[in-house]
Amino acid sequence: MEMMEVGLKDRLWHAMRQDLQRFMPALGGTSLLMCCACGRLLTQEQFSLEHVISQRALADDPEEIKKKITKNERAGTLLLCRAPLKIRGKVVYANGCNSWKGKFYDRPLREILNGRAVSGQNRRLLAVHSIAVMAVAYLGMVARYGYQAVLTQSGLPMRQQFFIPGRFHRDMPIRCQIALIGVPPTGYDEEHAEFWTNPMSFEYDAGICRVGFRNVVTTLPCSRDPEVPIARHLPIKPARYTLRPDFRTAFE
Ligand SMILES: [Zn+2]
Repeated sequence: MEMMEVGLKDRLWHAMRQDLQRFMPALGGTSLLMCCACGRLLTQEQFSLEHVISQRALADDPEEIKKKITKNERAGTLLLCRAPLKIRGKVVYANGCNSWKGKFYDRPLREILNGRAVSGQNRRLLAVHSIAVMAVAYLGMVARYGYQAVLTQSGLPMRQQFFIPGRFHRDMPIRCQIALIGVPPTGYDEEHAEFWTNPMSFEYDAGICRVGFRNVVTTLPCSRDPEVPIARHLPIKPARYTLRPDFRTAFE
């Protein structure tokens, strides 16, 4: 299993670098990759494998599902950094974006996926529940569409929101602050197999992207339809085929 994860990490490293080079041709001469949360360019050793829907949040999946469908299939995978987060030279968080996601979002996400956030005596929904859903939906978009989800205009508030777990970003549209949460099924049946095997679905609609996974649907700001190809070699191209990358970072 360890070996498989090492191989997967290498494959993701090469695939993500290849994708990022489309927007940053100079990356080719380096051994760096951009972390899709903090936006920093870092070395391979500074990244670790991350499950988009974290393992802890999937801990309550029924045993029969765990046997039938691998963790990576249920969760989706990408790389996030583990390099200390610094502002003006001062470490503000020692363990990087991978650990940040686990620390702030695993628990609320687990409460949503196992249904406890919306049913039972101790149900409670806080802003952090919606923000955890947004963070996972954003990373799911990166895993599906690559760095265009990071570098478009709408990627910036999403990257910044990742580091504000307790409240919504001031530029976050109201309609994106709402998550629809249902009660999850308790077992596996063929008819609903996709619920467990297809971690995420995406639907673009005029400036937003609806992202669904498991028993949740949320709406993310989305500057361009990610399914429309990006034109690279035409001297004059219609706006919808272009992407002006925004390389601002949240941390040093
Ligand atoms: Zn990072």
